[in-house]
Amino acid sequence: MPRPIEALIHTDALAHNLARARQAAPDSRLWAVVKANAYGHGIERAYPGMRSADGFALLDLAEAERIRACGWRGPVLLLEGVFEPRDLELCSRLDLWHAVHCNEQIDWLAGHKTERAHTVVLKMNSGMNRLGFVPAAYRSAWARLNAMPQVESIVLATHFSDADGPRGIAHQLAAFEQATHDLPGPRSLANSAAILRHGTVPGVHSDWVRAGILSYGSAPDFPEHDIRHWDLRPAMTLRSQLIATQQLAAGDTVGYGSSFTAREPMRIGIVACGYADGYPRHAGTDTPVLVDGVRSGTVGRVSMDMLAVDLTPVPAAGIGSEVVLWGRAGNGEVLAIDDVARAAGTIGYELMCALAPRVPIRAVEAGA
Ligand SMILES: *Cc1c(COP(=O)(O)O)cnc(C)c1O
Repeated sequence: MPRPIEALIHTDALAHNLARARQAAPDSRLWAVVKANAYGHGIERAYPGMRSADGFALLDLAEAERIRACGWRGPVLLLEGVFEPRDLELCSRLDLWHAVHCNEQIDWLAGHKTERAHTVVLKMNSGMNRLGFVPAAYRSAWARLNAMPQVESIVLATHFSDADGPRGIAHQLAAFEQATHDLPGPRSLANSAAILRHGTVPGVHSDWVRAGILSYGSAPDFPEHDIRHWDLRPAMTLRSQLIATQQLAAGDTVGYGSSFTAREPMRIGIVACGYADGYPRHAGTDTPVLVDGVRSGTVGRVSMDMLAVDLTPVPAAGIGSEVVLWGRAGNGEVLAIDDVARAAGTIGYELMCALAPRVPIRAVEAGA
């Protein structure tokens, strides 16, 4: 028997979550954001659950080839655009839309020979200060692209830095609208947090929304809201089994560094999952887990291949018992990845993207 750890990708949950994005932004077209190998889920595994999208947005030419190989003929968008001039050849061949965020990318496109004019997504730096033209430079970039035979149409876009938090989006939205109000063309602004939180603000959903994290069943604004609030379902389950149990006496310690000391007699289980599987090492004692579908917590430090859990709430558990590190248990109980991420001082995005290659992954239609 192989080591009992595995990850399940729930295609029904992906479909449900995308339907939630549709419901939240009913008048917009929907990019399913599948960068970082579909946030760790695997593009090919996630694709069957995400076919209802209007397009796929990603970063890498190799990922674009993979989504085309899945059979997708609709729009595919390179969110950071091309990295060198010859990338444009593949854009022409695979019919990719690509972001244009700097003058060099416009120069490269001006020198590109193509029979098929491209759709480009002209990115504004409205305050995030990562990629894009500042508002004062945006219109001249637009005019330059608009005059080029290589360009068929121009989508106007920006990205919010604070759609999930207290600062909000008003300052960036105002900068965007001021510089674009009289420019033609479709618009794209909203990420998951803006889709769910700011849909009532005019102009935010616009023509295309870009749903990333919500598709995978993590709340973009956790802990203010959780997946139950947004009616999202975990698209990934990381599960393993107990491979040993230990009976502790008061004063016994657990694991490296003896960071946990039993205050009274207790039983613990040892789980075949450690940081070499992508489980966060910074998750301290009491990080939530599901043992046989019952909520319990970790005990002591996470080691490379193992971690310990408290069996007090599940006295019947023993070797072979199911342990869900995040996702759905066999009995239907759900442990949101966000709860685990918080205990480790990070966010759901990082945990799902960091699933280690040694963990076998398979797609399942429903449940476990
Ligand atoms: C990653 C990304 C998104 C998706 O963000 P989520 O918070 O995961 O919804 C949207 N737009 C751009 C430009 C991105 O890079």
